[in-house]
Amino acid sequence: MTERYDVAVIGGGSAGLAALKKLADLGRQAVLIEAGRQVGTKNVSGGILYSKKPRHGKVHNVEDVYGNFSEAPVERKITKYILHAVSKDKDFAIDLTAAHEYQANFGYSVLLGRLNAWFAKQAAEAAEKAGGGIVSGVHVRSIGWGDEGRAVIETDELEPFEVKAVIAADGVNSEIAVMTGARPKFSPAQLYQGVKVIAKLPEQVLEERFGMGPDEGAAHLFAGDVTLGHIGGGFAYTNRDTLSIGAVYHFDSLMDKPAEPSALVDALLRNPLVSEFVRDEVAVKQEIDRNLPKEEQLRVRFAVSKLVKTWNELRDAYYSPSARKKLVESGKYKSDDEIRSRLESIKNDLQSKYGAKFETDYVELEYSAKLVPDGKRCMMKKPYHKNILFVGDAAGRGVFIGPRIEGLNVGIDDAVRAAESIVRAIDRNNFAPEYMGEYYSQQVEASPYTRDMREIDKDYLKTFLDATKDVPKDIVGQRYGMIFRLISSSAFRGLAVGLANMLGYDKLLPLVESEETYVQVPIEIAERLGKQVTASYTPTIPSVAERVASLKYDDDRQSHIKVTKPESEFMKKMVTLCPTKCYSLEDGKVVLQHEACIECGTCAKETEWRHPRGEKGIVYQYG
Ligand SMILES: Cc1cc2nc3c(=O)[nH]c(=O)nc-3n(C[C@H](O)[C@H](O)[C@H](O)COP(=O)(O)OP(=O)(O)OC[C@H]3O[C@@H](n4cnc5c(N)ncnc54)[C@H](O)[C@@H]3O)c2cc1C
Ligand code: SF4
Repeated sequence: MTERYDVAVIGGGSAGLAALKKLADLGRQAVLIEAGRQVGTKNVSGGILYSKKPRHGKVHNVEDVYGNFSEAPVERKITKYILHAVSKDKDFAIDLTAAHEYQANFGYSVLLGRLNAWFAKQAAEAAEKAGGGIVSGVHVRSIGWGDEGRAVIETDELEPFEVKAVIAADGVNSEIAVMTGARPKFSPAQLYQGVKVIAKLPEQVLEERFGMGPDEGAAHLFAGDVTLGHIGGGFAYTNRDTLSIGAVYHFDSLMDKPAEPSALVDALLRNPLVSEFVRDEVAVKQEIDRNLPKEEQLRVRFAVSKLVKTWNELRDAYYSPSARKKLVESGKYKSDDEIRSRLESIKNDLQSKYGAKFETDYVELEYSAKLVPDGKRCMMKKPYHKNILFVGDAAGRGVFIGPRIEGLNVGIDDAVRAAESIVRAIDRNNFAPEYMGEYYSQQVEASPYTRDMREIDKDYLKTFLDATKDVPKDIVGQRYGMIFRLISSSAFRGLAVGLANMLGYDKLLPLVESEETYVQVPIEIAERLGKQVTASYTPTIPSVAERVASLKYDDDRQSHIKVTKPESEFMKKMVTLCPTKCYSLEDGKVVLQHEACIECGTCAKETEWRHPRGEKGIVYQYG
């Protein structure tokens, strides 16, 4: 007999996990299906996770869903938020901390590999009490409808099972949305492409460099020449002992002027300010003398690798107060000084016995990429289909405007609204779209985030304008001069924003999000007002091939992507726009080699695109 459950949640990102936790807390039986072998291994964010307190209306925050959120493995509470207008070696910094704190309880930098795994533990424990749980390593292949309108979930790995309702939290490239016809695939105009690297930096080195204490964190945003002429920008967020450095650009701007995603993040890394952010002391091994006997070569290689590994690990521990304390308490070392002298002695051995050098460079730990839905342009008007409710990226939701980058908190808020709508439907045993779906749609409509995706918030705008008050208005140029003067004047701001909102985002966005605002104006600001920054070294940036080689995959010989239009202009652009160079051009047709795919979704629009089978594909460590 087919197994039956009350609810299936498809996708174990931050949105799906919040849905499962909320359903369990409300005493309902739900199973969450996640394609990755472990929850968290497929998720990518920048990212800052916000908790918000809007002046009008209510949102459901992460700490409302996870009562013990204070124990969660978040990275750093962001206490400083700076926007940089950059041009070559010139930098003009604008303090946007007030905009970051606008209607916020907090914002933490997070790494989803760790955080989603923790969310999963809490959600699974709660769900198991209600007869549900998390099944990872399983990919949902299709959904059909059986008796009494129940959804029949088919996977690549399990027997089909039936549920009364479904929450689709399967991300920006939601197969559920496309296969059910709930919405078409998103178009480039509705998306951003995000690409990110994780740089290693010992905890206290990071704190010293960014001028922050152990409980503080910094976020830096970048606009100007680092965009290579595209609409969007760069970011650098401090984590506990790493930095997240990324570039997020409008997909249609990339389609207009294709640029390799890796080149966009590299442009950021080469900016002198960012180079200085990521610089660290690095052990460089010497080439082994090939004239030595093979066995001796092997012995030296092994000894050097072991010493370098020990030096790296001990150095990280030395610069982390908690790890240093643990080492002393465990009795391994008597004092901090002893750890320091051990570090020195390993360094001396490496230099004197093996000719190793210690240089200033940059250490990259992970390369990742993912599409981001631009909620203003693609949130689903009716985020449901039959008895399926769509949440988070799957529903095209997220507040991304200027420096506001919020998808995580929006997805969590949606998830709670979806869980509550399903509980109401279970109580009435009514899963009809006009009852459950419509109710959920109304709840989403009432979310302050939906308002933020539709119209300009004049109070946020004021905070932003106050922060930029030192920028001479004439730099904004003729095109914007009038608008800028109007919104800068407190007397006319309300009127100007009211008029702008009447015009509607559709007409407004091309003006606000243009090459002028993201590229030309910041360049001019940097050139005229910026301070000169000099980098003390040139970072060694890995090639795409090296980045791919350092990633972890569970290889699948069967490709999850089928190219259907090998000669289309869109597909030809994928040769440049695929972040891991999976596409090449042969005789005017694109050819895919799927093995290096990191499932970003960039090529999804014109391919038969699926997530890989359960457990297969990319396995992110940081995310
Ligand atoms: C570079 C970058 C920077 C960002 N910065 C920020 C930021 O600073 N702040 C912020 O709030 N947001 C930020 N975002 C956005 C934010 O990360 C996303 O909105 C959020 O992670 C989406 O969560 P989700 O749960 O909706 O989807 P996802 O995290 O994509 O989760 C979907 C899950 O579903 C699984 N899945 C998919 N299909 C199936 C299937 N058929 N069967 C089983 N499982 C399936 C996937 O494996 C995945 O685990 C950023 C995004 C990027 C890429
Ligand atoms: S093949 Fe497609 S989904 Fe995979 S990394 Fe390249 S562009 Fe992204």
